[in-house]
Amino acid sequence: MKRIITEPVKIQSKDGRVIAEYLPDGKVKVFKGSFFRNIEVNSIRQNVINERLYLLNNSFISNSQLSKDYVFENPSLAISTLMGHMETGNQAFVTMDNIELGSYLEIDSNSAYEQHSKLAALFDNINQDRIRNVAAKKFIDEDDDGGSISTNDIDSFTNVEPEYIPSVKPEKIFVDKVSYKRNIEKAKKSIIISNFKCDLDNTHVSFTSKNGKPFMEAHHLVPLSTQNYFDNSLDVDANIFCLCPNCHRKLHYGEDVFTDLKKLYEARVEYLKKSGIDISLDELINLYK
Ligand SMILES: [Zn+2]
Ligand SMILES: [Zn+2]
Repeated sequence: MKRIITEPVKIQSKDGRVIAEYLPDGKVKVFKGSFFRNIEVNSIRQNVINERLYLLNNSFISNSQLSKDYVFENPSLAISTLMGHMETGNQAFVTMDNIELGSYLEIDSNSAYEQHSKLAALFDNINQDRIRNVAAKKFIDEDDDGGSISTNDIDSFTNVEPEYIPSVKPEKIFVDKVSYKRNIEKAKKSIIISNFKCDLDNTHVSFTSKNGKPFMEAHHLVPLSTQNYFDNSLDVDANIFCLCPNCHRKLHYGEDVFTDLKKLYEARVEYLKKSGIDISLDELINLYK
């Protein structure tokens, strides 16, 4: 249950640099003088980028502050636009009694709204990775344990010669990473459902596997590595596709995967919704950038 608001509620960001009112219609009126983090466009959510450009191009910002009041569609958009924040708006804003906005509003943690907030946080997290120059592409490699090295990993093309000398053993490393366990049966099922044909184009030819069937691979459209941000499982039939190895590699490593993603998304969007996975095409595409 969500608390019904009839009057504007005074709120501020936890660090006090954004002063605002939460309005009864869910919008957020941010007051003049609030802080604007004037760094390079720092979110990969298109609506945040648009909002930042709008403010910058229409004289809403001077000296890293809002020069007039401005109404944002929701708390998350407000905080992301102004602060480039990693938290969702409901966590970043507090009431004057210092209660987190989400708690104050009594937002049900299972609601779609909350899921959207989590997704928003995910995009900001990915973006933070980019700022730190971590290859965001590695983020979606959950289908390849450990990941393989390919053309994409080469960034210098100077001549190299092979070396044939004894070498010290590689260092042991302990990777501290939480991942979600896939249900292998579900992946197999997706390949059987598609009758060993590529879901992007059933005429694609693959080589013959050891069991005599065409070699195909299972791919999670919404990456399992983003499971934290969804309330329902991503390891479900709606989200698993059967792809030929070339298409599969392309989705993970290709330069332009928009058309392919759109095709897969549109084929399953209703089934994804039925399975409790609510994601827009734009949001999905952002996960693959
Ligand atoms: Zn994959
Ligand atoms: Zn294919």
